[in-house]
Amino acid sequence: MAKTVMWFRRDLRLSDNPALLDAVAAGGDGVVPLFVLDDQLFDKSGTPRQAYLGASLSALAEQIGDLHVVHGKASDEVVRVARAVGADSVHIAADFTPYGSQRDEDVEKALDEHDIALLRTGSYYAVAPGRIRKGDNSPYRVYTPYFKAWLEHGWRPPADRVGEAAWIFPDGRTHPIPDQAPPPGMTVPAAGERAARRRWADYIDADLADYDDVRDLPGVDRTSRMSVHLKWGEIHPRTMLADLADHPGKGADAYRREIAFREFYADVLFHRPDTVDGYYNKSFEAMRYDDPGAVLEAWKNGRTGFPIVDAGMRQLLAEGWMHNRVRMIVASFLVKDLHVEWQHGARHFLDKLVDADIASNQHGWQWVAGCGTDASPYFRIFNPTTQGKKFDAAGDYIRRYVPELAGLDARNIHEPWLLDNPPEGYPPPLVDHAVERLESLSRYDEIRGGIR
Ligand code: FAD
Repeated sequence: MAKTVMWFRRDLRLSDNPALLDAVAAGGDGVVPLFVLDDQLFDKSGTPRQAYLGASLSALAEQIGDLHVVHGKASDEVVRVARAVGADSVHIAADFTPYGSQRDEDVEKALDEHDIALLRTGSYYAVAPGRIRKGDNSPYRVYTPYFKAWLEHGWRPPADRVGEAAWIFPDGRTHPIPDQAPPPGMTVPAAGERAARRRWADYIDADLADYDDVRDLPGVDRTSRMSVHLKWGEIHPRTMLADLADHPGKGADAYRREIAFREFYADVLFHRPDTVDGYYNKSFEAMRYDDPGAVLEAWKNGRTGFPIVDAGMRQLLAEGWMHNRVRMIVASFLVKDLHVEWQHGARHFLDKLVDADIASNQHGWQWVAGCGTDASPYFRIFNPTTQGKKFDAAGDYIRRYVPELAGLDARNIHEPWLLDNPPEGYPPPLVDHAVERLESLSRYDEIRGGIR
């Protein structure tokens, strides 16, 4: 019999959690449920994410009975806690992000000095990043062949829910679970494993079958909103994949493809850690961009004068979330209409999204900016007005988030600047899309010869 530490990070659940099962199996004399408020991560998270994390940790603490929360550098704090209880091992799900994997290596070394093992079981993915490779052992650079290989590789069935555990709590220094309020006017979704399970079950019952038909329509708003629960590991994607297999059909097929996108981007970031900030396709480093200034602020505040863009940016401020189609539209607008480098937009998203995920976000941005994996060709430039008309035809999404336009009908809501009396308080278009499109294309022409 021995004591162990279960170091929770992005796996805030008791079900289908192999690392936790291992910690409990090995820790017959006691398991410390530990969460480290890592200075580097927590202090840099935007308040929406801090607020959500606090709520999720509270939910986990309620399930367990308590949670041992400490604040500081992981390599100091994990060692301190493990030594305080005389643990033989610390259990984690492997983290594959550049920061997370380095942090874990540092913790492993620090623990090793005291003969304590850091044991990695499972990951935040159905198939761990780095596992699936091409025949020549190189990583996939294009989603569709990755998806096929991912399906072929398959994944384990969900692990059992952890049973009785001998939870123990070391004496001494702890930190309260953060109770950061969300920014004024923002409501964050219900957090925790139970909320995630409830949301998922409701989604399967009500909306999964139609997912493929409606997933691109922000006004209909019937995507699953599971991203935040996946981000914090309140549910494992393997659990969701098993449920999808039990509900076969077009909807489940389409949903599985989206889960695979999350796994693909994690794989890409694993192989190319430099793409956290750097260009996946380095040829785009030479692209000319404008210094961000007032236009970036107008974009952030949803005051560009382009209704679908402003609705998206205001949804982000109000909910810490934005519909996927609109994420693409607003990102394209920033990069190709305002000529602002993608990293500025990605940073704003990381600051405001409750589901902010370094792999999906940076590579979602790079895809739109034309410099990512199988990126949409740079010269295919979204027209924000036609995108609005196509995907929010009735204008319901715009009306929901842009009250100045709420009185306009479907015919006028996408181009309020054409009205004789445009609605008061709503800004005129910040730029002329036709002009900026040509400007983008000419900047692209400048680097085109060097594109690989
Ligand atoms: P659903 O449509 O219900 O999809 C189900 C799940 O599949 C999602 O929860 C998500 O885990 C995954 N998924 C769906 N689309 C994608 C995608 N394009 N890439 C990766 N995974 C996907 N997703 C994040 O989780 N965090 C981010 O920080 C993030 N930033 C993005 C930035 C940009 C510029 C773009 C274009 C996309 C970004 N995405 C991000 C992907 C996508 O927009 C969100 O996952 C999705 O909107 C979440 O809502 P949902 O759970 O209702 O999605």
